[in-house]
Formats: sequence, C-alpha cells, structure tokens
Amino acid sequence: MKWYRKLHWQIILGMILGLIYGIAAAQFQWTGFATNWVVPFGDIFMNLLKLIAVPLILTSLVAGVASLSDFKKLSRMGGKTISLYIATTAVAVTIGLLVVNTLKPGKNLPPEIRKELKADYESKVEDKEKEAKKVDERGPLQPLIDMVPDNFFGSASSNSNMLQLVFVSLLIGIALVQVNQEHRKPVLSLFEGMQAVVIKLVNIIMLMAPIGVFALITKTITSLAIGEDGQADLGQIGAVLGALGSYCIAVIIGLLLHTTIVYLGLLKLWTPLKIPQFFKAIAPAQLLAFSTSSSGATLPVTMRQCKEKLGTSKETTSFVLPLGATINMDGTALYQAVAAVFIAQAHNISLDLGAQITIILTAVLASIGTAAVPGAGIIMLVIILEAINVPSAGIALILGVDRILDMLRTTTNVTGDAAVCAIIAHSEKQLHPPSE
Ligand code: ASP
Repeated sequence: MKWYRKLHWQIILGMILGLIYGIAAAQFQWTGFATNWVVPFGDIFMNLLKLIAVPLILTSLVAGVASLSDFKKLSRMGGKTISLYIATTAVAVTIGLLVVNTLKPGKNLPPEIRKELKADYESKVEDKEKEAKKVDERGPLQPLIDMVPDNFFGSASSNSNMLQLVFVSLLIGIALVQVNQEHRKPVLSLFEGMQAVVIKLVNIIMLMAPIGVFALITKTITSLAIGEDGQADLGQIGAVLGALGSYCIAVIIGLLLHTTIVYLGLLKLWTPLKIPQFFKAIAPAQLLAFSTSSSGATLPVTMRQCKEKLGTSKETTSFVLPLGATINMDGTALYQAVAAVFIAQAHNISLDLGAQITIILTAVLASIGTAAVPGAGIIMLVIILEAINVPSAGIALILGVDRILDMLRTTTNVTGDAAVCAIIAHSEKQLHPPSE
C-alpha cells in the first residue's frame, strides 16, 4: 500500500495542516471563518465517534462475556485485567512524583507570573471547583452506588455514564451465559450481529478522520489563542507556555518515562510483540486520542486497531478495552501527581511523605472515576489538592496549558489500554499478530 493511503499518515497530515491553518487563522484574525466553517467538521467527527461508543461497549461486552461461557475464565481474566490496570496506574503516579520532586518546576515560577495567571483564570477555576464539589460531597460508598443504574436507558443515555454501562453489560453477559441454549443462541447472535454493524460504522466514520482531525486541531489552536477580549493573539499561547514550560516538561518527561519503562518493558517481558510493531498497529488510535483528548471517543478505533493489527482476540479486546477506557487512566493519574506537587511548590507548601502517599492513593482512585472526556482530569485534581490541603484555586496556574497536556495524557491513557490488552491476550494464548 502506498504510504499516503495509510490512515495514520492521513491523520498526521490532517494534524499538520490543522496546526498551520490554526496558527494562520489566529495570526490573520480569520477566526470567524474558522469557527463557522471549519470547526463544525471537527464537532461532527467527534459526535460520530461518541455516537458509537455506547452501542460498542454494550454489544462488545455482552457478546464478549457471553462467549466466554466459563465463569472461571471470566474471573481469571477480570482479576488479571483489573490488577494490571491498577498496578500500572500506581506506578505512573510514583513516576510523576519522582519527576516533579526532582525537577521542582514550581520553584521556578516567579511570583508576578503566579499572580497574573491567577487573575487570568480565576473565573474558570470556580466552575471546576463547583463540579469537583459535587463529586466530593458524597459518602465513601457513593462511587459504588453510582456504578449501579436504576434505569437501563439512563445508563446508556450519557457518555459520562460509561462505568454504569460497563456494569450493566457485564451483568447481561453473565445472565446470558446462564439461560438455556435455546434462548441464548438468538440473543447472542443478535448482539454479535450488532457488534459487527458497529465495527463497520467505525470504518465508515474513520474515512472522515483526516478532515475531522484537521478541524479539531484548528479549534484547539484558535481557542487557545483567543484572549479575554475575544481577539485572537498568538503571543498569548507563547507567553503561557513560556511561564509554564518547566511544568509541561515535567509532565512530558513523566509520560515518556512511563510509556518506555512500564508499557514497553512489560510488552517486551510478557509478549512476543516487537516494539515498532506495537506502535505501528496502534498509531491511528494514539493520533486520534491526541486530536480528540477523549479516550472514550477513541475507543472504537483502539478496539479495531488492537483486533486487526495487533492480533488480540475478539474475546479479549471486547472485555479489556471498554473496561480500560473507563477505569484505566495512567496518563491522567501521572499528570495529576505532577500538577498537585507543582501547585504546592508554587505556593511554597512542602509535602511530606504522608502527603505524597495520599497523592498516590487519591490519584489512583480519582483516575478510575475520571470520565473519558476532554478536561475531566483537572476536575478530579481539585479533589486531590483538597486531600493534601493545597488551595484548589491553585489550578488557575495550570489551566492555560491544560488542553495541550490533556492531548498528551489521553494518548498515554490509550497506549496503556492497548498494552494491557496485548499482555492479557498473550497470557490467555489469544494474541496472534497478523503477518504483514
Ligand atoms: N481526556 C482524558 C481521557 O479522555 C481524561 C483527562 O485526563 O482529562 O482519557
């Protein structure tokens, strides 16, 4: 196949053109045209991806669990998957803490810039705090209650209810295994047929990916450049990046270390996959995660790439990936650890070992509860800050660069899901990479 026909090159081209056009639009004040005539294609693409997330999770998990037809296997696979997800997240937070405590990016932040950033983002902080307060004011078992919906359609009515949908789908799958053959067969074929339709839809929607990504990157650049006065100002991005450069570098170093040490290390140790083979297979999913900042919206493509290009079985892919998109967010947890310590450093608050351990515990839990949508990580960060007695208004310091870091941490989240999927598949003898 010619290189330019390959999806990942088309997406990369869309991203580069989006970057160039976004910068030009901000520079020459074409933001009106971009907002009215370009950005909507990004929103349409995002909506299409989100549209299939619910049917995909439902059909994949029900068909996946029902075809396992063996509880021992289900609990073995479930146990392994969840343990690996939680263990890698805890390691991610620890790496984040080591990097931020070594580089100390918060110490370099001049007090006048701190004041400026606080003034600029004060109004936005209030919204995030309000959202976090809703989450925080609940009893200890509330997350468990929240996982169990009282209405099936309610659980499927919002993409931020993914955990509920995962729960309902697992339940239906388990019940389906237990009904007699006469009833199970038609229901299972219905779910499998629907799953095939949804996967076809993914292929159709991805035809639009290069244009969708072009528009999404344009939107990101122009919205980052628009200042308080509503006018586009490229210098604004440069100024914020300059002030927060060392914080961004700390997050990026952490994400790179986690990807190379943990994912690549585990893949080398526990699977026969070659590293370039892994990256080539999942590149479209990573690029989409980067462009959309949503692991939920990327899920259909992650599943397709793992199954078709990495060679993970339908059974493993259908179980491990929807669960991962919902509960496994290593990139988010690592970023939360770096951000929490950065804010503390900028306020001259020193964090003892107890506070650092609290960060590990709360960041692991918070990343499980973080919705797989853009900007969700910073809301849960407020809860972590409160747990270590650092003023949550401190998020004003980092809001200006959050979107850029969201793109990077979402890419890590999706890479982690795919790596765990390959590892679990191999451990179940269900990894059969296609020969090129
Ligand atoms: N955008 C991230 C995701 O969808 C969540 C976050 O960290 O904000 O994976």
